[in-house]
Amino acid sequence: KKAKTLKQQIAFYDQDDDKAQYRELLIINGLPKGLKQNQLFMVFQPKLDIKSGQCKQVEALIRWQHEGLGLISPSEFIPLAEQTGMIEMLSSWVLDKVIAQQAKWRNMGIYINVALNLSSTDLDNPNLAVDVATKLSQYLVPAESITIEITESALMSSVENTIVILNQLRDIGVKLAIDDFGTGHSSLAYLRYLPVDEVKIDKAFLNEFETSAAAKHIVKTSIELAKNLGFKVTVEGVESKSVLEVLTGFGVDTIQGDYFAKPFTVSEFEHSYPQLNYPISNES
Ligand code: C2E
Ligand code: MG
Ligand code: MG
Ligand code: MG
Repeated sequence: KKAKTLKQQIAFYDQDDDKAQYRELLIINGLPKGLKQNQLFMVFQPKLDIKSGQCKQVEALIRWQHEGLGLISPSEFIPLAEQTGMIEMLSSWVLDKVIAQQAKWRNMGIYINVALNLSSTDLDNPNLAVDVATKLSQYLVPAESITIEITESALMSSVENTIVILNQLRDIGVKLAIDDFGTGHSSLAYLRYLPVDEVKIDKAFLNEFETSAAAKHIVKTSIELAKNLGFKVTVEGVESKSVLEVLTGFGVDTIQGDYFAKPFTVSEFEHSYPQLNYPISNES
């Protein structure tokens, strides 16, 4: 193969840059239309009780089937929505979809807690708690059947303001969880000031279980601390039996991960719900 000339290389890299920028532009410009045309939808991943294997909660995760780009991950379009001020519109769409879905499920006799994710910028909205309360009463959904997950890094970006908003949400009665715990580089001491019910340990550490005793230690210690402070502890991203076995000894309450169940669409979930019971401790 012939080596590229410098000029060709520059042209090549420029083209790639252009492509990435063009993709961002398509995503940003397409979001309002995508929301209006129902290109976006929620999937639901079971969270399992580690002792009984029962699914008592699901986490709602957003997806976008873009008309030109295909399926786009939230890791790609959520940050763009945050940067362009569109996250408020998106989060209020998520809130509406998830609470409406919860109302439908309750009418079908499916009683399950549904967790949804909010973004760091949502905490800057002083009307957040009122918006949540309004949606709950619009759909006649009890507050305690909804959990709001907020990432540790979002909570720590402005702790005092965050605590005010979290207390307002807690007064309404929704459950609160710290997401991606362990990635926000925050002082563990802050945990005790946060009025939350649950701590979700980030999956990043689990990948290192095989190779790093330190990673195991960090997870074990974080779990112990969170438990001692009275929080429910969830570990997300459990992909293997070996990781599960390590976690079983750590006092975790709830686990979530592809090893048991990937996110379901609404109809997949409704089909599977009667059999959503995972043998965990007595598995051979
Ligand atoms: P998250 O809230 O920490 O959600 C967990 C992510 O881990 C999800 O990725 C889930 O599909 C993935 N996951 C679960 N189990 C496993 C596993 O065993 N292995 C691996 N490799 N991954 C697993 P997803 O759905 O791509 O979402 C990525 C992030 O995007 C979420 O992380 C959350 O921060 C954000 N996000 C998702 N939906 C929403 C939403 O409706 N609103 C907002 N603001 N953010 C959202
Ligand atoms: Mg989450
Ligand atoms: Mg998480
Ligand atoms: Mg995450």
